[in-house]
Amino acid sequence: MQPEFQLTQPIVPIAGRDSGFPVRRIYCVARNYAEHAREMGDTGREPPFFFMKPADAVLPIPVGATGRMQYPPKTADLHHELELVAAIGTGGRDIAVADAPRHVFGYAVGLDMTRRDLQSELKKHGRPWDIAKGFDQSAPLSAIYPAADIGHPQSGTIRLDVNGTMRQRGDLSDMIWWVPEIVAILSEYFELQAGDLIFTGTPAGVGAVQRGDTLLGSIEGVGQLSVAIA
Ligand code: MN
Repeated sequence: MQPEFQLTQPIVPIAGRDSGFPVRRIYCVARNYAEHAREMGDTGREPPFFFMKPADAVLPIPVGATGRMQYPPKTADLHHELELVAAIGTGGRDIAVADAPRHVFGYAVGLDMTRRDLQSELKKHGRPWDIAKGFDQSAPLSAIYPAADIGHPQSGTIRLDVNGTMRQRGDLSDMIWWVPEIVAILSEYFELQAGDLIFTGTPAGVGAVQRGDTLLGSIEGVGQLSVAIA
């Protein structure tokens, strides 16, 4: 049957290609760098846990452009979390760690923007995080850089500057769970499909941004992401 309404498919540009990457689902891993896990209250290597954002929470930003994110309502404590994002090109379930890289089409630089005040309140009551994590434009994302061009980065500096001042800095090699492990574990819970994005967690140094701030994220060997908060 014909749909009563036309919906917009979110599409992220692919660096160096004319085609785009259609977004199906956005999975996110929490607390995946030891120092950030500690700043959020964890001890030791705990199993990864996941949450999701809606596909249309993505704010795709073309190579060389600065994206504009509206400061969201219902918060006075909007936090940045800079993350490596893996883009699934070949789906599967119960994927083995050794096979995981061939399921990854490419990588991007992403921000898991968080209404931290709402999240803290929800955590206190054991409630779901959706309204803290899955709001409109909560996932600014660079173009996707195909693994065919950049390989599968396992180390390299991940860094976020706000208005030219460094806020977050880490190394991909500090991840508690590496991308192939994340893909493998996630695929035990969900059948992954082409178009899925996986935000892989943020290094230490998360903090608040204000209207008028400009965020510059970079991941060595992947690319950059520039966002202005409007
Ligand atoms: Mn995050």
